[in-house]
Amino acid sequence: MISDSYQRVIDYLRISITDRCNLRCVYCVPNKGIQLFEHDEVLTYEEIIRIIRVASTLGVKKIRITGGEPLLKKDLPFLISSINRINGIEDISLTTNGTLLKKNAHELKESGLKRLNISLDTFKTHRFRDITRTGNIVDVLDGIEKAERLGFYPIKINMVPIRGINDDEIEDFARITINSRRHIRFIEYMPFGKRELWSPDKYISTQEIMDRLKAIAELEPVKERKTGPARYYRFKDAEGVIGFISPITHHFCNHCNRLRLTSNGMFRPCLFSETEIDIKSALRKGCDDEEIKRLLKLSIEIKPKCHGLNHQRSIELFKPMSKIGG
Ligand code: SAM
Repeated sequence: MISDSYQRVIDYLRISITDRCNLRCVYCVPNKGIQLFEHDEVLTYEEIIRIIRVASTLGVKKIRITGGEPLLKKDLPFLISSINRINGIEDISLTTNGTLLKKNAHELKESGLKRLNISLDTFKTHRFRDITRTGNIVDVLDGIEKAERLGFYPIKINMVPIRGINDDEIEDFARITINSRRHIRFIEYMPFGKRELWSPDKYISTQEIMDRLKAIAELEPVKERKTGPARYYRFKDAEGVIGFISPITHHFCNHCNRLRLTSNGMFRPCLFSETEIDIKSALRKGCDDEEIKRLLKLSIEIKPKCHGLNHQRSIELFKPMSKIGG
């Protein structure tokens, strides 16, 4: 078990396996696109597996695969089944936009993946196209259904409500939980990066969302066994739960247990801090496991106490979310 300088136990590694995405969500990717990493700048599966193996000896138990869009990568089931075989790894999950899920869900299930987070900001066909600039919502809905049929549970649908863009669907998203076991989670729109779209008036706080939902029915708090950034509630007698992830108004820095690994091989102790530690160069110079351990420990040691974000101004990060790993 390893703790950072603020006595937080770090047992969760969030790994971006690619910076490429087949969607270009208006709030995530700038209109002019982003400069992608060259193929050989991106960590190989073998490198990722080696890092996880060493991280597991330091107490990392939980892995999330993200991107970019992780389902764009070939042989993802190979990576997942390899991670599943690493001693000490207890939980592995995937964050995806769901567009390629229908054709991949079966193999993912076979590889041992159990949990899926699907990012979906609207149920409206045209709006989906507007937000993603390119996607077809039918692909995502088909993917979710297929995953459910195959027994993935829980399926968490993550929505980022943005005023004037999709906030009129907040209640519709929440109502899904009444007759379905899907988890719906609302994530506060985070003010970072050079975004054409972001401005304080587009941001909607968790409190505002909760107030709107309480107008539909009572929200009962739900005790979750596992810790995580979301706080969960349920409409009375509903099958599914509603989660709120509030990085701005109810930040979870005090309980943050995560370290990130970017697709170009950098440990990133905090999403909102530019500080990164280069593990790829060490690996490619032939370092031993002790050196990987040292760099892991260093990354954990320098994890900042708190991100200091607020909803008044956007912070500039060199890397967009799709490059860091959302
Ligand atoms: N392609 C995968 C997906 O769509 O889930 C993984 C990468 S994507 C960058 C991960 C998540 O980041 C998505 O749920 C997206 O909504 C979220 N995201 C991107 N920019 C955000 C922002 N400014 N505020 C809140 N969430 C954001």
